[in-house]
Amino acid sequence: MQRRTLLVIGLLGISFTVAPVAAQRDFSNVQIRTIPVSDGVYMLMGSGGNIGLSVGEDGPFVVDDQYAPLTEKILAAIAAVSDGSVRFVLNTHWHGDHVGGNENMGKAGAMILAHENVRKRMNPAEFRDVMESSQQAPPDALPVVTFTDGVTFYWNDEKIRAFHIPHAHTDGDAIIQYTNANAIHTGDTFFNGMYPFIDVGSGGHIDGMIHAAGAVLAISNSETKIIPGHGELATPDDLREYRDMLITVRDRIQTMLNDGMSVEEIVASKPTSDLDARWYPENWFIAGDRMVEQSARSLMR
Ligand SMILES: [Zn+2]
Repeated sequence: MQRRTLLVIGLLGISFTVAPVAAQRDFSNVQIRTIPVSDGVYMLMGSGGNIGLSVGEDGPFVVDDQYAPLTEKILAAIAAVSDGSVRFVLNTHWHGDHVGGNENMGKAGAMILAHENVRKRMNPAEFRDVMESSQQAPPDALPVVTFTDGVTFYWNDEKIRAFHIPHAHTDGDAIIQYTNANAIHTGDTFFNGMYPFIDVGSGGHIDGMIHAAGAVLAISNSETKIIPGHGELATPDDLREYRDMLITVRDRIQTMLNDGMSVEEIVASKPTSDLDARWYPENWFIAGDRMVEQSARSLMR
């Protein structure tokens, strides 16, 4: 239960992206849990998005880094299962609960990597005209290598493949496949057991979320381990159930939009009332109403 409370606090940061919320929050009680995923791959859970970690002879390769005040604890957790300093940090998207440790990691010598729209949204001084939703990051926090469709790393006896899904949770999402370990980090295209946050202001869209889940399932088998952006380590069945929920919500809302209903009317009709008990756990910040609203707004784009 404490974990869930921390998770909610962590996610609130992305609802108020204008202020450096993390700096004022108390992270002193946050513990980093290290969960073995598969050969050479771990998932780290603390506060904020789940971290993927590949370890081996070449050195730690990290996916996402939560919040700056947690960097020391995260590095200690990495050092407990791996030799060497962090060589790469790959961001799944630009939200503060996934990139907050970038500046520390960059200063410590890690190369920061992400989809090109992550750099744009973290650097509105350069891209002010095109970005509706963004927050200026310090120079050392910015990705120094960006990609558009995808990129592959041959590292730690692994083939680590990152690929982009357009307009899903944001417009800069990357999914990371650890090919040999048969594990996949979905970023925030997948919230295990919860309604997702779809950042429509950052180019997110429910159709992309459905597409992302399908793309991950297409490269999974029954043994695949799935690291979600938030929530516990998952199975392909968990992801399939989540995708089916998204499809159900999307189809219901699309029908209502086709009938000429407004977003307000659709929300008021409570089209997810039969789903809320399953997908809106206690203390979660995306209730059925918000799920409907963000989905409808994306479908109107
Ligand atoms: Zn996110």
